[in-house]
Amino acid sequence: HSKRKHRGGYTLFSEEMTLKLRTRLETINELRSAIDNDELYLLFQPQVNLSSGRLEGVEALIRWCKPDGTQVYPTDFIPAAEDSGLIVQIGLWVLNHACLQQVAWKQTATGPIRMAVNVSMRQFQEPNFVESVITTVQQTGITPSDLELELTESIIMSDSRVLSHKLNQLREAGIQIAIDDFGTGYSSLSYLQSLPLDRLKIDRAFIENIDSRAEDASIAAMIVAMGHELKLSVLAEGVETPAHEAVLKKLGCDEAQGYYYAKPLPAKEILSFKVPG
Ligand code: C2E
Ligand code: MG
Ligand code: MG
Ligand code: MG
Repeated sequence: HSKRKHRGGYTLFSEEMTLKLRTRLETINELRSAIDNDELYLLFQPQVNLSSGRLEGVEALIRWCKPDGTQVYPTDFIPAAEDSGLIVQIGLWVLNHACLQQVAWKQTATGPIRMAVNVSMRQFQEPNFVESVITTVQQTGITPSDLELELTESIIMSDSRVLSHKLNQLREAGIQIAIDDFGTGYSSLSYLQSLPLDRLKIDRAFIENIDSRAEDASIAAMIVAMGHELKLSVLAEGVETPAHEAVLKKLGCDEAQGYYYAKPLPAKEILSFKVPG
């Protein structure tokens, strides 16, 4: 009966694939209407300066609340949005709302709060990406240097003349660039030196055990040293405990972001946010 068993296994696998595909197609269909139906919204996670103890900026993080009330996290719909190309429209929505929020805060708050916005590969590859960012900056009235785009290391590694041309155009417009989830890819010091960048964000994977694993602490130390050598600011992601913060302060890391300070918050909670400690 081994043949039947094998066939059974094959059928099961195929059903699983079909289910996955169907789920993805459903997600894409639901996403199409999500923008028009106001189902997308942004949360903002504080980014703290480790030497001044001040709120330096926030990162905009997208959320999706389906009509039935289900909350969907970006890791469960950004891949589908990328596949279908909907990420281009969603990305513009995020950028526009994040910039409008930053401008609203700047009018009421004591000081400017930098606004970081995530950009996906598909979005960055659009031929008119830079143009659409600059148009949004102009239409919303955000000061360009108050806006930071977070690009993943994989975007940075897609080495091409197009990449450095786009980065240079953004730099000329005064917009800041951070590399997100840094340390998981293979970008070299000399390559990074050739690009107009402002900040490295150390991936959460190296922070998680930074106070207990010497290897992780050395990687973080190397990224801080490398960043400073390149005249870049360095921010640690996923800082969850005072012990994480203590190590990062000792390493001279510039900024930090993570649950120790705050989870991603609704806009109205940002102005009353107090840095702990
Ligand atoms: P990311 O850009 O690296 O964002 C950081 C993620 O880590 C966020 O997850 C945040 O909630 C989470 N996080 C922050 N602090 C901590 C911590 O101390 N511990 C732990 N365990 N997690 C922490 P989130 O909001 O689920 O977003 C996941 C990813 O989805 C983001 O990773 C980013 O790549 C993508 N994403 C989110 N919003 C957007 C968007 O508007 N556009 C695009 N293209 N991608 C987005
Ligand atoms: Mg990010
Ligand atoms: Mg990140
Ligand atoms: Mg990430």
